Amino acid sequence: MDVVIRNANLADGRQGVDIAIEAGRIAAIGPALAVTAGREIDAGGDLVSAPFVDAHFHMDATLSYGLPRVNASGTLLEGIALWGELKPDLTQQALIGRALQYCDWAVARGLLAIRSHVDVCDDRLLAVEALLEVKRLVAPYLDLQLVAFPQDGVLRSPTALANLKRAIAMGVDVVGGIPHFERTMADGAESVRILCEFAAEQGLRVDMHCDESDDPHSRHIETLAYESNRLGLHGRVTGSHLTSMHSMDNYYVSKLLPLIREGGVAAIANPLINITLQGRHDTYPKRRGMTRVPELLAAGIDVAFGHDCVMDPWYSLGSGDMLEVAQMGLHVAQMTGQDAMRACFEAVTTTPARILGLEQYGIAVGNHADLVLLDAADPVEAIRLRAARRLVMRRGAVIAEAPRANARLDLPGRPDSVNFRLNR
Ligand SMILES: [Zn+2]
Repeated sequence: MDVVIRNANLADGRQGVDIAIEAGRIAAIGPALAVTAGREIDAGGDLVSAPFVDAHFHMDATLSYGLPRVNASGTLLEGIALWGELKPDLTQQALIGRALQYCDWAVARGLLAIRSHVDVCDDRLLAVEALLEVKRLVAPYLDLQLVAFPQDGVLRSPTALANLKRAIAMGVDVVGGIPHFERTMADGAESVRILCEFAAEQGLRVDMHCDESDDPHSRHIETLAYESNRLGLHGRVTGSHLTSMHSMDNYYVSKLLPLIREGGVAAIANPLINITLQGRHDTYPKRRGMTRVPELLAAGIDVAFGHDCVMDPWYSLGSGDMLEVAQMGLHVAQMTGQDAMRACFEAVTTTPARILGLEQYGIAVGNHADLVLLDAADPVEAIRLRAARRLVMRRGAVIAEAPRANARLDLPGRPDSVNFRLNR
């Protein structure tokens, strides 16, 4: 074997297993494997997880915070306007440089698959070209999936639909949309129909910014679920944000949830961004604005948590740490039960992997040896600690590594009765 990891806990609850790795794949998993390997790694009872996956990001805007100015109101709409001011000044080199810096951060945090939207409303398609190049460059380290995103509205912006089709022809993977930004509800619904039909024709996945609003009447998710069902796109369509569901009437939601399920549509909440951008027109009480995560999950709908933004016109913080995202999602949705906390870990690992359609993902024999060794015993502890990544592996090769940072105060007469590991 090339590598064997000893005494690892897995996210599914298995404890103290060994993982043998050969030729970039997981060759065996079991207790006390009788194998020899070029490198032995002692997990010491720590969690080995499949890598983190971010199902919703904007890599064309990342690390542009302050260019050309800061979002003063903190609203989604000022962010869109600000991005519009920045767009004419974008250069390929700057876009690629910022994206690669973000990928450095991502890999260090065990984030090895990202679905990034890329704005197609600049007729030069500079960002599309840049991110396709980034996708190619970073492929040995992480999977970058791109969504053709008509930020200014596929109907509202005169060249957006043609640009979106050009972007797909250039190699962008997924069809995006933004129905709530079209001029009218009717145009929004029409945009969903046009884009879903195009995706069905092309055999592509769909991921729309959908109802990113506090307006309870923003109901484009209903049309998205309907079109997914009508066109047989089950399992390939995602509604991102869905924040208007937070404000919707409960009776209407009781009809909507089974429709989303019937359409085979997945949901992505973006907790850090939803909690900061939504509710900005409220005084008090002030809405949280995140979609109804526990209720969607209870209805059998896949829900992932995305990062959405890091240091850009919409959000001034972030570092590519999906455990920070999971922790915020857990708090905003009040998902504090043991099963609910584990579901928050799945929302940044296995569920987004399914949404992206990643193949051979997960800690199982035959899959890619892509994994993260966390300084935590289980998924709940990983979220609580935003655990350090002891080691990140891609196709069997270690691509990031960090020592544990522990301290124990050397005090005379200190009782020795507390048995928690130091940082636990
Ligand atoms: Zn977004």
